[in-house]
Amino acid sequence: MEKKLTELVNSVQEEIKPVFEEIDKICEYNSKKVLTAFQENHVSEMHFNSTSGYGYGDVGRDTIENIFAKVLGAEDALVRAQFISGTHALTVCLFGLLRPGDTVLSINGKPYDTLDSVIGIEENPCSLKSYNINYEQIDLIGNNFNYKAIEERVAKKDIKLVIMQRSRGYDLRKSLSLENIKKVVETIRKVNLDVWIMCDNCYGEFVDTEEPLSMGVDVIVGSLIKNLGGGIAPNGGYIAGKKELVELCSQRLTAPGLGKEVGPTLGINRSFLQGLFMAPSVVASSLKTAVFASRALEKLGYVVEPSYNEKRSDIVQTIRFGNPELLIKFCQGIQMGSPIDSNTIPEPWDMPGYTDKVIMAAGTFTAGSSIELSCDAPIREPFVAFLQGGLTYEYGKLGVIKAIENILKEK
Ligand SMILES: *Cc1c(COP(=O)(O)O)cnc(C)c1O
Repeated sequence: MEKKLTELVNSVQEEIKPVFEEIDKICEYNSKKVLTAFQENHVSEMHFNSTSGYGYGDVGRDTIENIFAKVLGAEDALVRAQFISGTHALTVCLFGLLRPGDTVLSINGKPYDTLDSVIGIEENPCSLKSYNINYEQIDLIGNNFNYKAIEERVAKKDIKLVIMQRSRGYDLRKSLSLENIKKVVETIRKVNLDVWIMCDNCYGEFVDTEEPLSMGVDVIVGSLIKNLGGGIAPNGGYIAGKKELVELCSQRLTAPGLGKEVGPTLGINRSFLQGLFMAPSVVASSLKTAVFASRALEKLGYVVEPSYNEKRSDIVQTIRFGNPELLIKFCQGIQMGSPIDSNTIPEPWDMPGYTDKVIMAAGTFTAGSSIELSCDAPIREPFVAFLQGGLTYEYGKLGVIKAIENILKEK
């Protein structure tokens, strides 16, 4: 490593120490939550057993769902390998809760890119829109909810489901803080006690000591190749919250009349349990990697968000490069700094579900896993990289240093 870069790394490392102490505290708190849930549910080797076929009476699966519910502050949870991804879990949730003629209201502007086709913002013959389910959105004002517009709209009582997204997605806004989620739920409840409130919790789990359900949200959704899989779960997703809503979603995931009672686990229970067990620490490593990248790239003159010492609500770090060449070089550097496929060079491509070309650097054990160090970016103005993950801080830091070397070469 060049001397100048070594100096930068060392000075950053000193500056970020107090932030790491805070991250460690949250990690300890969440670890205690997980451990307690394991103990209260009497987890034993028998829960690692597998079922095939219909998957009736899978005690391990039921125990996993009880543990997730406990940890997330939910009445019930659906935690399944049959969820292909976060998008699939969100889709099951939306189709599970909404019926023809209903209206869904997004209160933080347009949701995550892959939901365009699900909602029908992007025409699709299988979208919610094709089932005559209406979509409305209220945009954020800066980084905050438009509380007044939200209150006025939900007061009319014709909205079935309010949705929000905790993490920034491919937007340049900040992630939603738990305080603001609480405030918006209170705003809605002042005028409407019946509307269901859902939060896309992808990338948010274990970043703080609480989850959106504790802020009054009714149902949350996430992916297990992100935070809660702890880098161990090879796929899967979850829906957690009010029992009644989880039940409706389960009938959509499997079939009406079957619900939660079926679903073979095919040997995955042990990975789900071990993944959740590791998750507080893996999320902490991801946060530390993000904090390191934030300070280092800020010192190199890039606009970063969040800044290193800002309170976080997700594991995503954005870095604005301003031109496509540097952005692509940075992502390619992350790939070079990864343990798997470090010799392949990612290029922007037309990914299913996304409108712009996207570059994805993910030299990961699990394909597409973004709790592992990964960096992706839609190739559009102002050319922002979305960096996240890091199974350990040491590997995360090494990957980020490699990416920095790769852009310094370019400059
Ligand atoms: C990743 C993500 C999704 C979609 O998850 P996939 O597993 O990639 O389908 C949805 N919402 C947010 C905020 C995400 O970060």
